[in-house]
Amino acid sequence: MSHGTLYIVSAPSGAGKTSLVRALIERLDGIQVSVSHTTRAMRPGEVDGVNYHFVDVATFERMVERGDFFEHARVFDNDYGTSRPAVQARLAAGEDVILEIDWQGARQVREQIPGAVSLFILPPSREALHQRLASRGTDGPEVIARRMRDAVSEMSHFDEYQHVIINDDFDDALAQLGGLVLAERSRLARVRERHGALLQALLSRIEGVE
Ligand code: GDP
Ligand code: ADP
Ligand code: 5GP
Repeated sequence: MSHGTLYIVSAPSGAGKTSLVRALIERLDGIQVSVSHTTRAMRPGEVDGVNYHFVDVATFERMVERGDFFEHARVFDNDYGTSRPAVQARLAAGEDVILEIDWQGARQVREQIPGAVSLFILPPSREALHQRLASRGTDGPEVIARRMRDAVSEMSHFDEYQHVIINDDFDDALAQLGGLVLAERSRLARVRERHGALLQALLSRIEGVE
């Protein structure tokens, strides 16, 4: 049965992971981003069910107890989690799935899916990271200061990932991300799995030829 690839994308808040992932899925077929559950308050412009499934703490805890989460973690005083059925169904249908999760969640996913491809996105400088958090206009100065502090500890985990992309020029970083996904799709095992009928047709003996 055909099976999609699971991508883990982590970065400090403001490094550009949401923008890069969104641009990638607009340009490439067969890849989707998983919508996490969170207890964080909705930011202006966010839509429930699109950016996140926004739930209260009691609902989140009930989901943890029921084993609904593939992984979950506490980040910046809020809870975040990836729902298990949503991811499994898409992978089983042959779709690639991207998880935008923190390093704690990444560890949990690697243990369950050793074939997952992991990627860390870094900003080109601390100043640029601060500038992006401020220019996004979604968080106040206190939240930004807290996220800058937490960024350093998040970034210290970059070497647990197979790939690292520095998001300096956006289009360059996007091309690198797209190249990575396309290279994964050309792996022998993946081609065998997805294009078995074509391989059989191409390699079958031609009648009358020795
Ligand atoms: P952003 O980093 O500015 O986009 O802020 P978010 O509030 O969207 O994400 C906060 C943190 O939670 C980030 O470190 C994410 O990687 C992490 N995160 C988001 N969704 C998940 C998830 O489903 N599971 C885990 N483990 N972490 C998540
Ligand atoms: P994250 O999801 O990692 O928190 P976002 O995708 O929300 O980050 O990006 C944070 C801000 O930085 C956004 O306003 C986005 O438009 C901007 N941004 C992302 N990548 C770049 C880049 N390469 N150059 C300049 N600004 C960027
Ligand atoms: P934000 O609150 O800015 O949307 O996200 C903050 C951080 O939470 C980001 O670094 C993001 O990767 C992480 N995050 C978002 N969703 C999840 C999730 O489902 N699981 C985990 N572990 N982290 C998440």
